[in-house]
Amino acid sequence: MQGASGGNVKTHMDYAYELDLVVKPDSRAPLFEREYAAFTGAGVPLFSLGGGYYRYALIDILARFHARRGYFIAETPIIASTYLYQVSGHLDFFRQNMFLFKIEDHDFAIKPMNCPYHILIFLSHLARYRQKVRLPFKIFEAGRVHRYEPSGSLYGLLRVRAFTQDDAHIITPEDKAVDSLVSVFEEMKLLLEKLFLMNLDPQNITLRLSLSDKEKIGSEFMGTRREWEASETALEEAAKTLRDRYGFDYYKEEGEAAFYGPKIDVIMRVEESGIEKEWQLGTAQFDFNLPRRFKVYDAVREIYGSDTRVFIIHRALMGSIERFLSVYLDYAKGRMPFTLSPVQFAVVAIKVGDPSVDEKIAKLAESVHKGLISEGYRSGIIETTKTSLSGEVRRIESTIKPAVTVYIGAREAEEGYLTIRPYIHSEKKRISKKVSIGENPHIDVIMAVKDLEEGIVELAGYPPRIPGDVSHLL
Ligand code: ZN
Repeated sequence: MQGASGGNVKTHMDYAYELDLVVKPDSRAPLFEREYAAFTGAGVPLFSLGGGYYRYALIDILARFHARRGYFIAETPIIASTYLYQVSGHLDFFRQNMFLFKIEDHDFAIKPMNCPYHILIFLSHLARYRQKVRLPFKIFEAGRVHRYEPSGSLYGLLRVRAFTQDDAHIITPEDKAVDSLVSVFEEMKLLLEKLFLMNLDPQNITLRLSLSDKEKIGSEFMGTRREWEASETALEEAAKTLRDRYGFDYYKEEGEAAFYGPKIDVIMRVEESGIEKEWQLGTAQFDFNLPRRFKVYDAVREIYGSDTRVFIIHRALMGSIERFLSVYLDYAKGRMPFTLSPVQFAVVAIKVGDPSVDEKIAKLAESVHKGLISEGYRSGIIETTKTSLSGEVRRIESTIKPAVTVYIGAREAEEGYLTIRPYIHSEKKRISKKVSIGENPHIDVIMAVKDLEEGIVELAGYPPRIPGDVSHLL
């Protein structure tokens, strides 16, 4: 198989096209001959239908997952008056990455970061509900942001100009900072293990602490010596807790902090085609700049008393939906978890050439396919014959990779059972299961794959149901 890069190894973009996650630029559709980037602008991925299902299901899970863990859920505007980013300081230190425009003498910015809006929501709650607002205050958004990146640095879904962060801000009292940081990493671990079925072996995980250079606090690193010391102590204490609890090792890089605060990143080593690569997963970053600029310290002291000190922490578990997807597709060789898979079920009707039997097969296959859609699943149906079966299966296995294949042939139509083959991530292969069927065969199929969603039920309470007849993808 030729890779998108021209080599023999598939890249994440090959998988993304095969799975119909993003629109393929060399499509033969009218007006697409050149580059679809001519329509969207370079670095702005156009998610296709498979990608739409993936995004909606994922964002639904993320919202429920965070809400169940004490985060409030926000949805903030894509544009803002430039003034918001002047107050936040982004206009000064992030201007070269911002899309700015002017209409009727008014200056606007396309949102490059969600933080300022989240802080406005926090401040408004503090003013309105006063002491009823409990700290830590945690606010989550699947926040779409746009940042200008030089054309030369754009790559697939890895480096883009439009992306959706799994973004949250935590406003925590100083004495709860360690707990807040530890729970961020426990949340990350849960999400990656239960939803993405990843194996977070402590051997492959390292925590990187980016700290200040003590000599340069007050000059290159803004904020007070006290703030840096307290936050860096909290970071190291959280790292120690995680090491003791899960065996994740950590290391410190002095002088590597951002000017506005220290941070902790989770680095995972993954092996790809024999080459070891580093994958940056979750991150939590202190910020001493925004609370000053938005007068958060004053507002907090007014409500909770003069000795209350808080930190603002930015955090992401995946980073962004796009960037995470790019690395995950390589990691999982294009195999999406059941819930996020564009095609959850491929119903394969295997005709035998005897009209009366074929009619039964078609009827059963159609009823399973339609039943699955009516229960909220994405299902596709294809017809084949015994002789062309293996070719057809190989074809869909190498492209759209359905999470579960359901086989319906002569025996199935006459003997009251089905054969299903779900892909099992922990074993990296499909496992055959026989399912006896009764009045509602699609329900029997659903019951047989229930365990594929156990992790998501644990995370989010219930798995999202975004149904679709996706037969044309097969
Ligand atoms: Zn932020």
